[in-house]
Amino acid sequence: MPIDFTLTREQRELQMSARGFARTVLSGVADATRHLATPAERFAATRPFYEQVVKAGFLRRMIPAPLGGEGTGVFDMAIVAEEFQSVDVNVSLTLFGSLLGLMPVMLAGSPAQQKTLIAPFLERAGAPLAAFAFSEPGGSANFASPVPGTGLRTAAHLDGEDWVITGAKQWVSSATGWDGNGADLICVVCRTDPAARPTARSP
Ligand SMILES: Cc1cc2nc3c(=O)[nH]c(=O)nc-3n(C[C@H](O)[C@H](O)[C@H](O)COP(=O)(O)OP(=O)(O)OC[C@H]3O[C@@H](n4cnc5c(N)ncnc54)[C@H](O)[C@@H]3O)c2cc1C
Repeated sequence: MPIDFTLTREQRELQMSARGFARTVLSGVADATRHLATPAERFAATRPFYEQVVKAGFLRRMIPAPLGGEGTGVFDMAIVAEEFQSVDVNVSLTLFGSLLGLMPVMLAGSPAQQKTLIAPFLERAGAPLAAFAFSEPGGSANFASPVPGTGLRTAAHLDGEDWVITGAKQWVSSATGWDGNGADLICVVCRTDPAARPTARSP
């Protein structure tokens, strides 16, 4: 059976709006950042652009409608990613890093977690950041590798009512937040029973 890749009217509108935004707004990112000396300075300089992404509604446009946004599926993300990244990869990474950070909550959060944690990302204001902390210094592509192989080793154990996390992460987009004190939401991938041999069903 042939697959029809023709965009719907709504998808075509999203594509045109993302293309126009990328050309008029994101095209300014390179000039605003390339002269700055450090990654931290360059990241900070992208904040006004990310604020415009949020204000224009692109973040909430990709959060699923049942959770309060206007998203209709990952195809929306692919359309926006293609248009944004053809002009600028930096602010795009911040946008999609936030969506990645929200993904565990969107997929598996309790209704209470979804209501509280997603709410700031539905606003058309500010510059909310979410991060997904998965990768580790020892290597994490082969994440399910059992000890002594390199794999996902960060562990979390319950201490009273608090989860205590032990381990190290790297490459986590937006994890620092704008001020170095952390993103608004960081989802950290951990093992809750590090002694157990990982299986396909391990956390
Ligand atoms: C732009 C960008 C943004 C990123 N943002 C994030 C983020 O927000 N959060 C986050 O957690 N990470 C992030 N990363 C990190 C990225 O997701 C990881 O680099 C990726 O998951 C691979 O893990 P690794 O670097 O630990 O690779 P390694 O585990 O060191 O693997 C290195 C290479 O060996 C291969 N390999 C490993 N094990 C095996 C095996 N058993 N069989 C065959 N081949 C194998 C891998 O495919 C890979 O090519 C980002 C990376 C980039 C480039």
